[in-house]
Amino acid sequence: MEQNRTQKHTVVLVPLPLQGHITPMLQLGNILYSKGFSIVVAHSEFRPPNPLNHPEFILHPLSDNLSGYQASSNNLVELILAINSNCRAPLEDYMVQLMEDQKLQGYQVACIIYDSHLCFVDSVATHLKIPGIILRPDMAVYMLAFRYFCQLEAENRISFPGSRLQEPVPGLHPLRFKDLPYPITNEIPEWIMDFFASSVNIRSSVAIILNTTDCLEHSTLSQLQQCYKVPCFPIAPLHKLGAAATSTSFLEEDQSCIAWLEKQPPNSVLYISFGSIACVNEQELTETAWGLGNSGIPFIWVLRSDSIDGSQLEDHFPEAVKALLGERGLIVKWAPQKKVLAHSAVGGFWSHCGWNSTIESICEGVPMICRPHFADQLSNARYLTSEWKVGLEIENVLDRGSIEISIRRLMVDAEGKEMRQIMSVMKDKLEAGLQKGGSSYESLNDLTEFISQLPS
Ligand code: UDP
Repeated sequence: MEQNRTQKHTVVLVPLPLQGHITPMLQLGNILYSKGFSIVVAHSEFRPPNPLNHPEFILHPLSDNLSGYQASSNNLVELILAINSNCRAPLEDYMVQLMEDQKLQGYQVACIIYDSHLCFVDSVATHLKIPGIILRPDMAVYMLAFRYFCQLEAENRISFPGSRLQEPVPGLHPLRFKDLPYPITNEIPEWIMDFFASSVNIRSSVAIILNTTDCLEHSTLSQLQQCYKVPCFPIAPLHKLGAAATSTSFLEEDQSCIAWLEKQPPNSVLYISFGSIACVNEQELTETAWGLGNSGIPFIWVLRSDSIDGSQLEDHFPEAVKALLGERGLIVKWAPQKKVLAHSAVGGFWSHCGWNSTIESICEGVPMICRPHFADQLSNARYLTSEWKVGLEIENVLDRGSIEISIRRLMVDAEGKEMRQIMSVMKDKLEAGLQKGGSSYESLNDLTEFISQLPS
């Protein structure tokens, strides 16, 4: 490979092939490329990044024995474990070759940046004496929540009655026990506990990069920095720092959304998406459609072909609902979400509260309806609704009445206007953090310096 970069350093990225994880990793790659580093992405064969979207990166597939695998919310841990055991040897073989090639060209591998769930990378990095750096794609508080679980288990206090679920978690304000990543009134299987323990153990990593920012998580970041003795670099929003606005989507983005939005008045449209994994059941789908239809609010609704537990979309819309929705909205399989949220016609976002969606919404000052499904979505929703007060949650069973009321509260009522104003202040703070002297700007410079000075 021919390299002609201002830095003689190459950064190797190892992403986890889930949308919410690979996106921040590739965005970070864009940023480091713009800082003069060469970027190599060693990725699983399962769901590779699209090379057409990343002509500046060297992409290398790692054999993973995962052909035919279907990822769903039920088997994510299984997928992560499989990649951890199948990709270790292919990564090590590739790294040996890459380091030799780099030496011949007068370059060197500065470090490997890897997803926090891919602990096999640490073992390769340690063996080859390459510094490893972890990328956390989520809020800093989520890492602390995992640590809290491990502490509870160590003290044999993991399971307790459901009546305590509303109580605050000590040291993790504003989280309640019900916002933690696993229902702790149940017995937690050993392999889940091992998974939690593994993902908070940074092993020999020399630093942690976090997809968050000081203005969102100031005190949590200080807490986290006290737990880990290596430097923590909070940098967000990553997509606003990268040189190129390339798509990182696995699915094709339906650009018709933008032309449609052009015809809508400012702040009039509700955008609805549950991210790349979360599903709804048939009843929730029908109730949502009725609630949306009855609200009278225009919408763009992302329904992936696998959004409904195991079945096809078409069969599930009764004719009456189709007629109700038909004129006033768009249903698409995958949207150019960042562009949609940035459009002035969008006034609200009904989200599953994945962290990327959350930060993208804050970036554009769009208030939210929160309907978290699992994992960090629960704690993200808690921050949005109770700490930042820019979202309202639909709790309990989804029924058309509460959906209609929530949509109107967000899109029409004074309450929604107030949340939009608070969001707009948050947006300004995030933008300020990206300017010279701002926290993310400076943290990125520190990271760049840190990588350039890592011992070879
Ligand atoms: N996304 C998109 N188009 C869609 C739905 C989602 O581009 O129609 C992107 C969204 O912008 C975000 C990512 O997919 O960057 C989803 O990540 P998130 O962390 O929000 O949720 P996850 O998919 O991991 O549950």
